[in-house]
Amino acid sequence: MSRKDIFAKCYEFTAAEEARKEGWYPYFRPINENHGNTVIIEGKPFIMAGSNNYLGLSQDPRVIEAAREAVARYGTSCSGSRFMNGTLALHEELEANIADFVGKEAAVCFTTGYQTNLGSISAIMETKAHIVTDKLNHASIMDGIMLGSAFTRCRNIHRYKHNDMNDLRRTLENIDDNEPIIIVTDGVFSMEGDITKLPEIRKLADEFGARVYLDEAHALGVLGEHGKGTMEHYGDNSLADLVMCTFSKSFGSIGGFVAGEARVIDYIKHHSRPLIFSASMSPAQLAAALKSLEIIRQEPERVRRLQQIGDKMRKAFTDLGFNIGTAETPIVPLIIGDDEKTFNFWYKMYQQGLYTNPVISPAVPPKNALIRTSYMATHTDEELDKAIEIAGNVAKKLDIIP
Ligand code: PMP
Repeated sequence: MSRKDIFAKCYEFTAAEEARKEGWYPYFRPINENHGNTVIIEGKPFIMAGSNNYLGLSQDPRVIEAAREAVARYGTSCSGSRFMNGTLALHEELEANIADFVGKEAAVCFTTGYQTNLGSISAIMETKAHIVTDKLNHASIMDGIMLGSAFTRCRNIHRYKHNDMNDLRRTLENIDDNEPIIIVTDGVFSMEGDITKLPEIRKLADEFGARVYLDEAHALGVLGEHGKGTMEHYGDNSLADLVMCTFSKSFGSIGGFVAGEARVIDYIKHHSRPLIFSASMSPAQLAAALKSLEIIRQEPERVRRLQQIGDKMRKAFTDLGFNIGTAETPIVPLIIGDDEKTFNFWYKMYQQGLYTNPVISPAVPPKNALIRTSYMATHTDEELDKAIEIAGNVAKKLDIIP
């Protein structure tokens, strides 16, 4: 048979293997010990400046104990979908608490943040609807849109320039008055670390009769006086109609939720394939997220510390001459541009015990390669100063900064 083998592309894909042989392959590196702000890899200690554990709660003894107790009480898995046997009282407790935290009527939890976007956006789409999305929104939003288009044959997908309200207005003006619209935006953009212009989006949404969907993955626990996210940051809880977030970042767990009006959440619960056809959040994940939420409510000083750390790191890197783009949060990208230079910079910092993440296209636009650094409320000033020193010294040697 001369039929082309569907695996042919796999045999031809050698880029990762070559990088592994040369020793600088940055991805899938196993961590042997995780202490939150520091980790052990290949027997060596690293300052962790590349995690989304923003409040350090995945190592908090209270969160660990809550997860342990939940496993002892309910076992390791719910062994089924939320729709059927996979709903525990703990799911409903978490949903009620998180809906209250974000100031919405109701919430439903998914097994990951990725599935939350997949399941919420695809469920809410319909054939003649228009999805209007920021060009730099997270991949899971785009995948939710693609899944929804596959189910509904909706082809009305519009991507506006990042945080560009004139482009958003132009996009809305070109949509038929009778067709429903949802505008989708990240609260904090995951690679750029900047904040969406939510009040302006709300105004445009109201003018054009559209709904607003907000992804708070990097905003809850990070923005606002109490860590309630982008809407608290802007002081108006009606800026978004649907709010999603993951439990894998500030909440020290894994899973996600979408919150909004009870009728809308009930509709999503009955129409979302990624919710209905996948097993539910496990007892340990639920208990960890619940305990983290309780701690965030009781200890808002963690959020303030994280915000101060973000301010410190952005100032330090800017003063050193780095290009940090439009960053406004504890996500601080060091924008390099060229892929090879970015990998080289990453590897030299890694060799000196600083863990960061090199990010290239398609996660960022081509020629915009960057080192994504991100910080935690539990980082000490000593660790942060060391991180600045390592990044500064390496960048100087590589002529990235003066
Ligand atoms: N939304 C955004 C903006 C994200 O950055 C991520 C993950 N990085 C997700 C959703 C998906 O969340 P999870 O990793 O918890 O599945």
